[in-house]
Amino acid sequence: MSCLNTSVCKLCRRENAKLFLKGDRCYSDKCSFERRPYPPGQHGQQRLKFSEFALQLREKQKTKRWYGVSEKQFRRYFKEAASSKELTGTALLKFLEMRLDNVVYSLGYANSRREARQVVKHNHILLNGKRSNIPSVCVKKGDVVELAQESRSHVRVLAGVQSVARRSVPGWLDADHQNFKGTVKGSSDAR
Ligand code: SF4
Repeated sequence: MSCLNTSVCKLCRRENAKLFLKGDRCYSDKCSFERRPYPPGQHGQQRLKFSEFALQLREKQKTKRWYGVSEKQFRRYFKEAASSKELTGTALLKFLEMRLDNVVYSLGYANSRREARQVVKHNHILLNGKRSNIPSVCVKKGDVVELAQESRSHVRVLAGVQSVARRSVPGWLDADHQNFKGTVKGSSDAR
């Protein structure tokens, strides 16, 4: 997740969608988007007609913010996706889904992708038995993502594991919550 100088809740309101950037708060009635489901700012409640370009821009921003990547990283993923044999959109989402921070979030070791990025950067994650502190690392089929032994009793991690029930682990990940471990079964489009 790139550094943001704005309230993350404003991003959800700007994109007119819940992006689940704040963990537990997103599921509570304190969610800003639930309370004010219109764009922030003085003219937020005005009716606007979007051009085709504006619609495309909003979709791009929404995806970027959902995964918490910077513009530069997003461009890089787009370039790689455009040169792959698959449909560009499918390949792009696959790259984003297979990021280590997204996998950590999907397995429930963090309450949000933002928190997952921090968990990875603070050396709490082992990738195939080795410490990995780079959130943008792309996992592949057969990789094992594991929580370091000493981090398993961390209160935030335990809260994340409990909360994963309400968003469920994607089918392409095999989660073993008892051993704080997850295996990548295939690419993110494998169900
Ligand atoms: Fe978005 Fe979560 Fe804030 Fe709601 S609480 S507006 S879902 S970040």
